[in-house]
Amino acid sequence: MTICPTCKGDGTVFVKSMDLTKNPPTKTGFDLPCDTCDGKGEVTKDELRAKAKRLWAELRDIPTNKDDEIDVEWHIFTKGTEREEIWHWFENEFDLSVATDLMRM
Ligand SMILES: [Zn+2]
Repeated sequence: MTICPTCKGDGTVFVKSMDLTKNPPTKTGFDLPCDTCDGKGEVTKDELRAKAKRLWAELRDIPTNKDDEIDVEWHIFTKGTEREEIWHWFENEFDLSVATDLMRM
């Protein structure tokens, strides 16, 4: 087992959101159980890879513009994030290679 890279071992992640009950909506946030490690704070390499593959599958459905930036907000990334930046995030976050581990799914 290794320390979960998503929650750094806390077992929870802080999720930003908008409070739509306020006008204008205000930014707020809350802690959710980490879904990379199911709140355990630790993960096996297999669990990490499974999570990476789920997210990768999701990313494939995210539209991009002509500059290869995502056209909607996705996961922790804001609209306009370059796809390449997200790939680097995958490699750092999950300790794998996008080219050899994910593109060959
Ligand atoms: Zn975690």
